[in-house]
Amino acid sequence: MSAAAEFFLIALAIYLWESGLWLPLRAAVLRKRPFSGRWGVHRPGQWMSTRELGLVAMLPAVPDTGLAPCQAPPLLVTPEGKVLLETAASDLVECGSPTWEDIKVEAGRLTVGGVSARVSSPRMVDLFRRAKKRGLPPADGIADAWKKAMSPHRAAKEWRRWRLVSSPLAPLCLLLTTGFFIGMPVTFLYAGVLPMLGVVLFLWVLMLVIGCRLWWLSRRVYPAAKAALRGDVFLCCVVPFHAMRALEVAAVHAMATTHPAALLLSTGDTENPWLGRFSRELLHPRPDVPHDDDRAALLRPLLEKALLPHNRDLSLYGTIPSDSGDEAATRFCPRCHSVFADGVDSCTDCKGVPLKAFP
Ligand SMILES: [Zn+2]
Repeated sequence: MSAAAEFFLIALAIYLWESGLWLPLRAAVLRKRPFSGRWGVHRPGQWMSTRELGLVAMLPAVPDTGLAPCQAPPLLVTPEGKVLLETAASDLVECGSPTWEDIKVEAGRLTVGGVSARVSSPRMVDLFRRAKKRGLPPADGIADAWKKAMSPHRAAKEWRRWRLVSSPLAPLCLLLTTGFFIGMPVTFLYAGVLPMLGVVLFLWVLMLVIGCRLWWLSRRVYPAAKAALRGDVFLCCVVPFHAMRALEVAAVHAMATTHPAALLLSTGDTENPWLGRFSRELLHPRPDVPHDDDRAALLRPLLEKALLPHNRDLSLYGTIPSDSGDEAATRFCPRCHSVFADGVDSCTDCKGVPLKAFP
């Protein structure tokens, strides 16, 4: 294999590595299907994961313009006023009654009174900071962040703003990718080294322009994510593969204060299977998981409100699984739709959710 071929194979491997987002396991990534209001939902870690982060693959070769990495607020307040932090495994850990000074974000982690969890973007914590400035206590600030995250109207606005401010990035990233993987080798093979160096110079200018756009985003559009975006600006100026994926890297901040359910409902995608599962999780909290009922009780009214403009009710999602074809299956789990034979009373996967009999 020639040195040039080896170079391009290694380059392709680095490009594919850059074509993945590592996000907290509790995040959900939506991808808009072209020409429709429907979304595909991807959970981080379906392919590869660590204890806290999971990989989400971007579309190969072309900029993934429909990608929306959403994030629910990581904090909840129980009716008794206790603050809970959602950690990697979706466990809710009690953090007592923290003051604003106890809620900090450092190096991609939110820390509350000694308990910490990964967040995909500091923009979520900025919502808390603004609530503090308005003089709200932490419990009200957290409730306010949830109200904002679950509002389909706000989700639609955030998505429109992102599409508008990111629109120049898609053609620039595509031009950089095709210039690197097609333009450069073709010029080298048919015109020689010197013209190829001209192409290299042009591609580097493209990388700088992409970096400038991210700098602008960090200054004018998402100042709360300034530090993270500026790290990406530096990488875009020196690593071509990072600049090729600049659009998706910045998308993480764009939708970081939006709950996936709000974005789905903002386009009227009420039949989305993920929304059905999420609704059933709220209708049937797991009795053996601490505070799962508190989470469900807090989120149910917010989801009910988001469903209202679509003339839908949360109870409509309490469906019965389609016939499994198994004669012995007489009962089902109303939460995960697993089917069971007689003699079983609760779902093992859903930690104690009582089974229902098929009608
Ligand atoms: Zn179940």
